Amino acid sequence: MGYPERQDSLPDFSTPLVHEDELPSHGDTVSTGSLPDVERVTTLIEAAHRRYRDLDEGKVADYIPSLGAADPALFGISVCGVAGLTTSVGDAQHRFSIQSVSKVFVFALVCHELGHANVSRLVGVNNTGLPFNSVMAVELADGDPRNPLVNAGALTTTGLVPGTTSAAKWKFIQDGLSRFAGHPLELDIDVYESEAATNQRNMAIARLLQSYGRMDFDPIKITDVYTKQCSLLVSAEDLAVMAATLGNGGVNPITRETVIDPSVCRDTLAVMATSGLYEFSGDWLFEVGMPAKSGVSGGIITVAPGKGGLGTFSPRLDPAGNSVRGQRAARFLSGALGLDIFASKPFEAEAAVH
Ligand code: GLU
Repeated sequence: MGYPERQDSLPDFSTPLVHEDELPSHGDTVSTGSLPDVERVTTLIEAAHRRYRDLDEGKVADYIPSLGAADPALFGISVCGVAGLTTSVGDAQHRFSIQSVSKVFVFALVCHELGHANVSRLVGVNNTGLPFNSVMAVELADGDPRNPLVNAGALTTTGLVPGTTSAAKWKFIQDGLSRFAGHPLELDIDVYESEAATNQRNMAIARLLQSYGRMDFDPIKITDVYTKQCSLLVSAEDLAVMAATLGNGGVNPITRETVIDPSVCRDTLAVMATSGLYEFSGDWLFEVGMPAKSGVSGGIITVAPGKGGLGTFSPRLDPAGNSVRGQRAARFLSGALGLDIFASKPFEAEAAVH
């Protein structure tokens, strides 16, 4: 059995996310206020692709049997700016199941419906420090799902989706995620059936949440809707547009459709910052400095608020479930494109006009 190997154990932070010699120079990390021009972005994503395409650390997930068939060599990078310019390299049009990256968008849609205070109370916004499918995390928290980006919180969130039937909830999710992508997203039937046949653990988590009074809808039906949302097909290019919508106050930069309110975008990015990269969310924020979310099929969305979004795809994962090449590419591009939200440079009094 492949990943995940350390269920219900404490995370191991001993392996650094990036190696010292990969860090860009200090001056390059200051945010510019906007993305560089598209030629410069293209040059840099091509450099990132060249730099990491031969990196073969990590393992393809196979705990969902059909994911194990993914070609580990695949690697795509795409950037979408808030003005709608997109540029891509490698296998950026290859389609794969969105998996946990869906949790972000379902949370955003539910947050849009229920509001900031309700989702904070009903789902939570804190990192568990435990694997995404931990049962122990739910028990330790007396049934509190903790955040929408682990399975317990995602199942809770899917349970809160408007609709009195599974079909209505599923339609809300499929339509909503399609608006983020700017075109209709299809279900990967093979992945859905493969996960549906092996998702006893998620069903158990949903039942456990029900036992704590956290699940009003049928937990088995909610697990099924959740499994479908994870099986929607996207490409790295789709992920870049979806990320850019979150970086653009909820307006899709390609279709110009308003998908969610700016305040919901802000709330969603805050949760991504605390919990987007599983147990390595702190390492990610420390190294990359942007809100993000990864999934076990190898996708990562990274959001530069006010500037745009980055979508990467490469199936080899670290022990927590994050794409290895995707993380390295995002680290490189965060510095090279000046996207790190924590970077600033000292105010220069002599250069100021007033
Ligand atoms: N559908 C997957 C699961 O529930 C999603 C996991 C992930 O991408 O983190 O196991």
